[in-house]
Amino acid sequence: MKEKILIVEDNPRNMRLIEMTLSAENYTLLKATDGEEALDMASMERPDLIIMDMRLPKMDGLEVTRKLRENLAFSHTPIIGVTAYAMKGDKEKVIECGCDAYLSKPINTRELPEMIAEMLRQRQKGNT
Ligand code: MN
Repeated sequence: MKEKILIVEDNPRNMRLIEMTLSAENYTLLKATDGEEALDMASMERPDLIIMDMRLPKMDGLEVTRKLRENLAFSHTPIIGVTAYAMKGDKEKVIECGCDAYLSKPINTRELPEMIAEMLRQRQKGNT
């Protein structure tokens, strides 16, 4: 079965870039454009991995990630936190809220697919 990846991103151009970057991979891509939609989509679809923009309307990515981690169903779901600028302290904040990995914009289109593949591999190892 195809692995499901939930992309949470409010900027249409970034969303498109991430989609294009992952289009060659064999994943089912799900999309959410604000924090509340991200929580709804996660509950409905149970994605295998989440790419989470930190700046989002309604509820920011930090809050969404914290809420997901409170839920047992998502306690081990790999989450990649994405921030607009690599600012000092950003990485710490993103990891503190429960993300497993961190990426800063502009998205590195070579790094992202590799990061995802590696995280899904690790996750499978953990499940066996
Ligand atoms: Mn954003």
